Parts: sequence; structure tokens; C-alpha cells
Amino acid sequence: MEAKEFKDFAKAMADYIAEYLENIRDRQVVPSVKPGYLRPLIPDQAPNKPEPWTAVMDDIERVVMSGVTHWHSPRFHAYFPTANSYPSIVADMLSGAIACIGFTWIASPACTELEVVMMDWLGQMLDLPKEFLACSGGEGGGVIQGTASEVTLVALLGAKARTMQRVKEQHPEWTEVQILSKLVGYCNKQAHSSVERAGLLGGVKLRSLKHDNKRSLRGETLQEAIDEDIRNGLIPFYVVATLGTTSSCAFDALDELGDVCQARDVWLHVDAAYAGSAFICPEYRYLMKGVEKADSFNFNPHKWMLVNFDCSAMWLKQPRWIVDAFNVDPLYLKHDQQGSAPDYRHWQIPLGRRFRSLKIWFVLRLYGVENIQNHIRKQIALAQSFEKLCLDDEKFEIFEEVTMGLVCFRLKGSNDINETLLRRINGRGKIHLVPSKVDDVYFLRLAICSRYTEESDIHSSWKEIKESAEEVLAEN
Ligand code: PLP
Repeated sequence: MEAKEFKDFAKAMADYIAEYLENIRDRQVVPSVKPGYLRPLIPDQAPNKPEPWTAVMDDIERVVMSGVTHWHSPRFHAYFPTANSYPSIVADMLSGAIACIGFTWIASPACTELEVVMMDWLGQMLDLPKEFLACSGGEGGGVIQGTASEVTLVALLGAKARTMQRVKEQHPEWTEVQILSKLVGYCNKQAHSSVERAGLLGGVKLRSLKHDNKRSLRGETLQEAIDEDIRNGLIPFYVVATLGTTSSCAFDALDELGDVCQARDVWLHVDAAYAGSAFICPEYRYLMKGVEKADSFNFNPHKWMLVNFDCSAMWLKQPRWIVDAFNVDPLYLKHDQQGSAPDYRHWQIPLGRRFRSLKIWFVLRLYGVENIQNHIRKQIALAQSFEKLCLDDEKFEIFEEVTMGLVCFRLKGSNDINETLLRRINGRGKIHLVPSKVDDVYFLRLAICSRYTEESDIHSSWKEIKESAEEVLAEN
């Protein structure tokens, strides 16, 4: 493809994207295709001769869109949001054009340096303690990882390295294998499944602890678990505090957990994958009280901050525990400026990395912090409107306090009737929700996902839920 054709193709695609997104509300949110739908729609083998780009454009609706779940439709209320904005899409185009692999500073200085500064901008927007920020001149700093799951694993490996070194000094007679077999980490029973997975991948024990009646992990519970494990000869080394659990958007008591971790020299990691974006609004920062006691902090701008996937922001007070833990230094990756700027390959699991800071830069400049705050506040207000509709109907109840853009609700009555209700709602095909279950109570989750969602969309989703409920109740 030559430049002239590229320009035509890209312009046609920009038009298509804008049409798609601006009219997304009119599409069926989940497609009605069956597994295997796609293979018969395209040839069995790759074409031998080139085709015109117009032929590809012609196939987008037929082949692709017929099987797309429209995550950015205001009718999509499942999981948590994933972000999408025009500045971010354009930044990804530029990233694709530069197409560098920024594993070291010299591999593309702008890629590393813009990331360092963007992580400072973001950290300041959240009012993170200065120990996390590179601009404070200390050791700390931020890095963009692909996902929160990777971040939890990377933090666990840092915690493991720090504890191994301490214990080796205290017990030079113990072997590495002996120490490893004693390490134990902790999280809320409601922590994301990626935390358990990080334990499995990291080869260490992780205990899921009981939460209180607000689904919050409390300091006292952690303290008891740690004391018990120490009595049994184990070595507590890592705690994950969740701010905004996936099941019901509950918040761990970070301040209390921080005190326990500090007293026992245990690494405290904060997983604020979804809710972290809300901390750019000062009125929600009470939910991260105690953050100064954490060793690492993470949230996903790719969830709720208008930056397209993938962009998971991680800050570390002492990156050296990660950098040293993963340090393998072949000659072909060395360069003369080593040590004067981060070589991000040491901060992550893969070697290769894309120029992801561009999309943060574009989004922050083209929206301004003020409009991103407005976006968060509007989505929380929409969740509160939906909560009110539920509360005003005596057939429904709310399962969890609504603090962010997620409403956990259910029909008063059995789990079975709520399971039937969810099947009915999704079966009607107008809106899409997923359920959750906490302490054996099954409920439905309505997340405000699309940046296009308006008050009228909330009312139409509610109408859909109410009608489905009436059908189900009539049948029962
Ligand atoms: N942690 C929490 C609290 C989440 O809600 C999620 C996903 O929704 C994750 C971690 C995993 O995020 P990722 O897909 O970025 O790994």
C-alpha cells in the first residue's frame, strides 16, 4: 500500500469509526451469532493476490460487526467499563506509525521519557504521595503495564524479592527453597481472581480473608491472620488491598491494613483497577485514605479514564525491588546512558512495550482534567439515578452501597428468581448485564459503561428490567 492509498483508507476508516460510535446506541448490544459463525463468511485461505482496501471496508459490517458485542453502547452494563475516546484512538494511530519497542531509554528516548512524565501527571491528578512520583527526585516512579493482573504479579514479585533478602540476612542458614515455602500473602475474599492467579504464578501461598458486612477487609482480620501464620512459622510478605471490588465495588480499609503492614514489614499493594479513576475528583479521595502506607498502587486508565485498552498505571515507592528481581543484562540491550533514565524492560515481565503514554498525553490535553472529572461525576450521578429507580420500586432492593458507577440490585426474594430475571433480561437482547454472588446472595450488576450514556438511557434500561421482572413474577 502506498501513502496516497493509506490516506484514503485511513480517512474512510475515520469516517466509519465516527459513524459507528455516534450511532452505537441503535445496534443490538450482544450479537445473536452462534459459535463458529465467522469461518463460513471468509475464504479458507489467505488471498494470494492483493485486494483493494475498499473490499476490506465492505466486509467490516458483514464479517466483523455482525459478531461484535458493543461495549460502548449505553445498553451495555456488564463487567466494568472499558474506555474509548477519539484522542486515544488517534494516539494509537501515531503509536502504530512510530512502532518502536521502547524496552530501554535508547530504544526510543521519547517513549520512555513521555511515560515518566505522564505517570507523574496522572499521579498528581490522583494526589498520590510524592514518594510515588519521579518528579519528587526520590527513588519512586510510575510505569504503564498492560493490565492490572500483570501489575499484581509484578508487585508480588517485588514483595518476594524484598522479603527474601531480609530473611536471608536474618537466617543465613535457611535455603531459598525453605524461605519460599514459608512465604504467605493476603487479600480480601472478594479480591479479583487475578490476585489468586498472581499467587499461583509466583509460586507462593495466598490467603483469602473474610470481609466485614460491607465486604471490606479490615485491619483486625489481617492482623489475626498474620499473627496466626507467624505462630505457625510462616513469613507474611504481601497484602493486596482492593479499592472497588469487581463483585460489588466495595472498598478495603486501606488505612487499617497499612498500619498492620508497616508494623510487620509486609508489602502493601493497592488494586484500584476500576475505582482509581474516581480519585481524580477530590471528593472521592477519602476512599484511598492511608495510601501513603502502600508500597505500590495501581489503577486502569483503560477502564474509566477515557484511555483505550491497554493502559494500566502502576506506581512504586522502591522500584529497585522489581528492577533488581528481573535484571538480566545481555550485551545487546546495554547502552551508554544506563542509569540516567529508567529502562522500563526491568519494570515489567515482557521485554517489548508499545508507546502507550501517547494516548494518556492526547487524552489529558484534549479533554483537560476538568472534563475527565466531569465524566466521572456524571457516570456516578447516572448510577445514583438508577439506584433511586430501584429504591422507589418495592419489588427491588440494593445489595451494596452505591459509591461509584456500579449498582448491585436484586428482586426481593430468592436467588433462583434473580437468576431467572437475569436470563430474561439478557434473553430479550436489549441490554446486557452480568450477575455476581457474595455470601450466597445472587444479585445483578448494572455498570455505567459507555461515555454516551444519558439519563434517558438509564430510564430505558430500567424499563427493560422492570418489564422483564413483571414477566418473571407473573410466571412465578
Ligand atoms: N482488579 C480489579 C478490582 C478488577 O475489577 C479487575 C477487572 O475488572 C482486575 C483487577 C483485572 O483487570 P485487568 O483486566 O486489567 O487485568
